[in-house]
Amino acid sequence: VRREGEFYYPIYFEEDFAELCSGLKKENLVGRRVCIVSDSNVFPLYGDKVKKILESVEESVDVFVFEAGEPNKNLDTVQNLYRTLIENKIDRTGFLIALGGGVTGDLTGFAAATYLRGIDFIQIPTTLLAQVDSSVGGKTGVDFQQYKNMVGAFHQPRLVYMNMNTLNTLPETEFICGMGEVLKTGLICDSELFRSVCRQKKQIRGLDSQVLASVIRRCCEIKAGVVERDPKEQGERALLNLGHTIGHAVEKLMDFQLLHGQCVAVGTIAAAAISRNRGLLSEKEYQEILCGCRDFGLPVSVQGLDPEKILEATRNDKKMEQGHIKFILMKGIGNSFIDKTLSDQEILKGIQEILQ
Ligand code: NAD
Ligand code: ZN
Repeated sequence: VRREGEFYYPIYFEEDFAELCSGLKKENLVGRRVCIVSDSNVFPLYGDKVKKILESVEESVDVFVFEAGEPNKNLDTVQNLYRTLIENKIDRTGFLIALGGGVTGDLTGFAAATYLRGIDFIQIPTTLLAQVDSSVGGKTGVDFQQYKNMVGAFHQPRLVYMNMNTLNTLPETEFICGMGEVLKTGLICDSELFRSVCRQKKQIRGLDSQVLASVIRRCCEIKAGVVERDPKEQGERALLNLGHTIGHAVEKLMDFQLLHGQCVAVGTIAAAAISRNRGLLSEKEYQEILCGCRDFGLPVSVQGLDPEKILEATRNDKKMEQGHIKFILMKGIGNSFIDKTLSDQEILKGIQEILQ
């Protein structure tokens, strides 16, 4: 992936941590004071292994572990991390290692972007969601008050290292959430990805490593391509928000009882319904999308929410531009586009489809 300027960063697709050292050496990221950032679930599983490897090439290796979960993706945790970095004398030559899911990656990346006006960081994503989506692309940040990802920075990692076998310990619902982002990626620009994933649901749900590796690779290729062409989301990158406008509203109104990927699935169904209502998507394609989500155990509707409240919540989203919501719609499977012309009526009608 190209960073700003002429830098590229590599993405490793591996089945263990064995190549991490040579990756760091190649990127000239050795002999530094570094800090591993991880959460209370992931560190006990993989922390010691990664720490040992780092200790063999770095000057010093510190550890910062925070309590797992989205509610801790906030400025308090970032402040505690700054304290650890200062105590351990991490200077501009040091770097951070995000070992965990999207919460860890977003938080670590934000701390790296801001500590001493920006130091390096690397991503070691351990959830499917982080591997197919959040670890690539340089969006970092934390939630602020009730607003998701409200405070953040663009800061690209120096390298992304995936050990796909870490998915073996991931809880099933978390895996399913990652599949929500995979299906989303296919719907945006690759109908073959969407359809092959649906065809191979048995292998994927059984964690067939070959099938999964090719799916993860394809998602990273797509995301890297989009991010290279539009790193700061001035155009095309907004497509990656398919399902996220209504998804984020649902996530917030459900008080984060549903996971992000589950909300994205629900939001994607609403976007599909709106597209169908406009005659852009056939009923058959709409049903195909419903089936795809259901086959992977993703929700396609929610209970007990007020449609007006959902509409209202989408208005507070960052995707507003001069009073118009930037909404992602589909002209068929694998062909999404940005629309700024939706009326409240059309959005409400789409929302009705996801309410039980
Ligand atoms: P997460 O980091 O909270 O991980 C989910 C859960 O799985 C956590 O409890 C974690 O401790 C646990 N876990 C992680 N890896 C594990 C493993 N290998 N084995 C066992 N347990 C493991 O959440 P997530 O779903 O990875 O990421 C969601 C976050 O990502 C959200 O905050 C979202 O806003 C963000 N996100 C960011 C981007 C981006 O471009 N920066 C894109 C999409 C999502
Ligand atoms: Zn997402």
